[in-house]
Amino acid sequence: MINWPDLMLPPINLWSLGADHLYYKRENMEDFNYQVHQVKNWHIERNLIEGSTDQAQYVKLIEEAGELAGNIARGKDVRDDIGDMLVVLINIATRNGCTLQECLSVAWSDIKDRKGKMVDGVFIKQEDLSHEHSTHSDNTNNGS
Ligand SMILES: [Mg+2]
Repeated sequence: MINWPDLMLPPINLWSLGADHLYYKRENMEDFNYQVHQVKNWHIERNLIEGSTDQAQYVKLIEEAGELAGNIARGKDVRDDIGDMLVVLINIATRNGCTLQECLSVAWSDIKDRKGKMVDGVFIKQEDLSHEHSTHSDNTNNGS
């Protein structure tokens, strides 16, 4: 099985043209990256990259986030909602010449060593903690 880092990847500017399908093999059908690739091609084939905008897709992302909120509130399955949000994020990432993997790597390197505290179930990073929060909670932890 050929893994993502072993593939010969095209220059980033070719990705937005959908050229990366040439670099995938059938064995990767179950691979997350291959699913991302399929979704990206789905957007390209429907002119949702060139024919749409970040603004329009952002509105769609928040629409899907609203559906997620509704299902969280009702205790229902959230998989379709999270998936729909990923589909829209793939659209926005593609238009901006980057991949979900790159975006996640950037975010991960930003948060992985972050220090802060849990306040009412929300992680507050150290630099955002007010004096009041820092005196009320000793729950130092890592998180996003
Ligand atoms: Mg949906």
